[in-house]
Parts: sequence; C-alpha cells; structure tokens
Amino acid sequence: MIEGARAGFFRHAFRGLGPGAVALIGALSFLMVQPGVAHAAPQATNATVETPDPASITFKVRATGDADIASAIVNYKVLSPDGNVGGSLRAEVSGRTVDASVTLQTNTNERYIPTGTQITYAWTVTDKNGASVTTPEATMTFLDGRYQWQSKKRGQVSVYWYGGNEANADVALNATVASIADNETLLKVKVPYDVRVVVWRNTNDAKAAQRSRAATFDQQVITGGSRVSPDVLHIYDPLGGFEDVARHEAGHIVTKVAGDGPFTSLPSWIDEGTAVYAQKDPGGYRPAIERAIKADGTTRLRSMAAPTNQPGQVDIFYGQSWSTVKFMVDTYGKDKFAAIFKSVKDGAPIDEALEKNIGVDQDGLYNAWRKSVGLKAIDFPPVPKATSIAGAQATQQPLGIPTSVTSAENTAGGAAGAQAGGPAVSSTTAIAVGGGAVVVAAALAFFALRLSRKKA
Ligand SMILES: [Zn+2]
Repeated sequence: MIEGARAGFFRHAFRGLGPGAVALIGALSFLMVQPGVAHAAPQATNATVETPDPASITFKVRATGDADIASAIVNYKVLSPDGNVGGSLRAEVSGRTVDASVTLQTNTNERYIPTGTQITYAWTVTDKNGASVTTPEATMTFLDGRYQWQSKKRGQVSVYWYGGNEANADVALNATVASIADNETLLKVKVPYDVRVVVWRNTNDAKAAQRSRAATFDQQVITGGSRVSPDVLHIYDPLGGFEDVARHEAGHIVTKVAGDGPFTSLPSWIDEGTAVYAQKDPGGYRPAIERAIKADGTTRLRSMAAPTNQPGQVDIFYGQSWSTVKFMVDTYGKDKFAAIFKSVKDGAPIDEALEKNIGVDQDGLYNAWRKSVGLKAIDFPPVPKATSIAGAQATQQPLGIPTSVTSAENTAGGAAGAQAGGPAVSSTTAIAVGGGAVVVAAALAFFALRLSRKKA
C-alpha cells in the first residue's frame, strides 16, 4: 500500500453499461434523492484499486457532499463461471470530504481469491440527508502489485507475465490454447468462458499468491502450477517446463467443464489421469508407476477418489491415474471415455458411469488395467451401490461460503524430491488442481446430499 501502490493499480475499465444507460440511471438516482427540497447528491470520484500484494485488495474513493458524508460502501463481485460471489465493505467516514478506503483480505482461512480473478465493484456514497450516488460498475483483474504485469490474449485465453518472462508466457499461452482444444476434442465439450493464465518466473515469486498448504507437504512436493479456479491457471515452475505444466492445468479446465455437475464431481484418478494424459509426456510419473507395478504396489482405484496427501506417494498416484486413463482411451475408445465424463456430469456416481459406458465398475476397471500391465486380478468383495459424490471435498471458498463441491483438492503432483534416497528431481512437471468459487446453489445441494448419507 506504500511502495508498490502504483504498480498495484490495475485496469479498472468501466464497462457493461452503455453511456445512455449510465445517464439514465444517473438521472433516475438523481430523481430518487430529490424528495422535495433540493440538495445536491454527494459526489464519488477518483475510484481506484490497489493490490500491494496477493493478500489484499484496497478500494479507494473520494466522497464530497454539501452535507457530511454518512456512509461510503463498496459493493464487489468476484466473478466465476461457477457463479459470482459478492460482498460489501463499509469505509470509516466523517466530514464533507472523505478519502474513503476499505481493504478486502484475499488469502485467509475463510477466503481465498486467487490472483488472475476478475472482480467488479461500485461505490455507493450517501450523505446525512440521505442523498446518494453510485459509481458505474468497474472491472479489475486482481494481480500481485509487487510486479509489473503485462498481458496478451489469444482466442479465449489471456496470459499475464512480468519481468522479461514473455517467452515463457508465450509457451504457457500456446500450451493452454492447444491443451484446451485437444481436451475439448477428447471430451466432446467446449469451454464456454474465457481463461486467464498467470505466469511467474519461479515458484518463490508465486508463493504468496498460493493458498497456504501444510508446510511439511509444501517442502516435499515441488509444485509447478495449479488450476486455482475454473477459469484461472497459475504457472510457476520453469524447471518442470512451462509447456507441460500449462497443458496439464488446462486439461483440468476442460475436465471440470466435461465432468463436474451440480451434484457430482470427478474422482481424482480420472481428473488427474486426464490432466497428465494432456501433457506431451508424463515425465517422472511414468517411471514411478512402472516401479509400483513391478513391486505390485499399485492402489485400488476406488481408493483414489481424492489425491494422496502423502508426498512420497504423489508420483505413483499421478502415474497410476495417467496409466489408467491411457488404458481406458486405448481400450474402450475416445467416444466411451467422453461418455463417462458426461454421465458423471449428469449426476451418475463414477461406478454407475463406468458400468453404463464400459461395463465395469471401478474394481472391474482396476482389474482390467492390472491384467494389461501384467498383474493378477484381485477378487474384491462386492461394493454396496455408491450414493456418494466421488471426489467431493470440503474446500475453502472465496468470500465465506462455508464449503462446496470442487473437482479435487489443491494437492500438488510432480517429483517428490525430498524422499530420502529417492531419485534426483528430474521431471518436476507438477501439478495441482484447486477448487474455485462455486455456485451457492451447488453448495446448498451438496449440503442437502450430505445430510442424506452417512459416509463417502
Ligand atoms: Zn492436476
């Protein structure tokens, strides 16, 4: 808010309403505050936004009136394909001329608004006589004000970068565009909204913009990127190669569109498997699953609805997910693979979606895959019909929505370099998928479903 404040000024393009509509609304609000005797409405000028770092957004406005200012309130909306989430903040005011300022915390236990998110806002200033004025709605893209960001757009994808990192930004941009197109073809869907990709020079620079995770986990897993909301990617690992990190994360954008419905979401194994399958190369995940196969140390698919939280198991988890997805596409074909996503989106639990389209449940698929890699089938006892939402996880939501459905937890993949005696970190293609803002209705539906069952 002190230094870096200038850098923290971001586009707050006034848009939405045409000038005619603004004039009309202005005239109406003028009439509304003129109950009889004339007193001029207050003025709200110099509306600005400062984002000194990724932890907060400060909204400012100058309010002046013929009478003392009684209130200055900024109403904001965090825009998301899952549904906008709004709120309002009231500034401390006194006197006829007020420089009002309020700060929205963006990375707390209750609320995480990732950088790259678009936010609209408008100030309403009211004086002691009840006369008020509302500024036109402005839109800003939330970015870390410690850096000087530049951006460019290709098709529906915008990329943001700073500090001479344009070449990497181009790689991330082109990889995102290509991966979205590839996965749209694979899964037979279109991503119906614009996507923003924020590119840092390195993991350290990006740290403050990430949702905080358990420290031990952080130390042991190298994370290269994250899909932080349905339409925003964070990319920050030059070691892993921006291309495959971007291809992976862009894959998550499409899996969400293809497979996450209002009542169901994809289990992590098919979500992550498809994202690794979207990479040009699975990198270190391939030797990891090959070693696990050799040692007969693979995991029952049914136990892979949520990502592992054991850093040493991350590469195997991603590798098995990838290998399973590749097996499905190669064995059953792309049409059936896409149809499985559609069934989940339409509300089927994963076992039902698999049975309907390829004739096996998760255990049957796991055994078919085991046989394909030279392992013996396992005789699993029958599983009661699932009534749960596979992969659904309680996750922090922006703006205090208590919890809701997201596609997967914000767990990282990639080379787990801290394993004692483990292999050197080679392919740090690493990767995570994060929850984003979700429609309140979905959250409520989730609660309703959760009430109706005991255990996932
Ligand atoms: Zn992922």
